Amino acid sequence: MMFADIATEEKQRVLAELGEVKRLFASRGWFAGTSGNLSIRAGEFASDSFNFAITASGKDKSLSTPEDFLFVDQNGSPSETTRLKPSAETLIHCEIYKLTGCGAIFHVHTVMNNVISELFWDRKSIPVDGVELIKAFNIWEEEAHIEIPIVSNFAHIPSIVPEITDRLDPRIPGIMLRKHGIYAWGANAFEAKRHLEAFEFLFEYVYRWELLQRK
Ligand SMILES: [Zn+2]
Repeated sequence: MMFADIATEEKQRVLAELGEVKRLFASRGWFAGTSGNLSIRAGEFASDSFNFAITASGKDKSLSTPEDFLFVDQNGSPSETTRLKPSAETLIHCEIYKLTGCGAIFHVHTVMNNVISELFWDRKSIPVDGVELIKAFNIWEEEAHIEIPIVSNFAHIPSIVPEITDRLDPRIPGIMLRKHGIYAWGANAFEAKRHLEAFEFLFEYVYRWELLQRK
């Protein structure tokens, strides 16, 4: 869909939602050192044609300014004239939208998600067994077992993308970058937030449980 065909009010809704999520996550300390990025899609979706708003690169996310977000297309190029630069990690958002058709993607670096990614790096996934909050992912089986994929983290972002293409599990709305952070997504901002919060809860659960087992 052409960016120009997206209604103004739809673009404003997306920016307002991003602003709210950014404020909330900043209050939780989830954007250490300007890390992390948030995006919400606007308009119609085709896997080879879509637009989304994303946090601009290098901004202090605890502040609200007119330079917080910009719209980009399916290739991560700005959809309209702007001096803002999308984060280098925008390409990861592009790939996740392309693969899932989701409506929002939230990415945060936390100490807990970094620790757990290293703890299970050899396994290439984080196992979670039978925890109630797995239901946040719409997985309703009794004592469900899930594996949250972990992929390599490279300084060169385009090198990360093929591994995401390869490892993304349609059942699990998130993927971890080793010693970097989690990407979580959903059909809309509400669902992506629910998923991200569930992941962080499960990471802390698994971490604490592992410590008890290893004593
Ligand atoms: Zn990051």
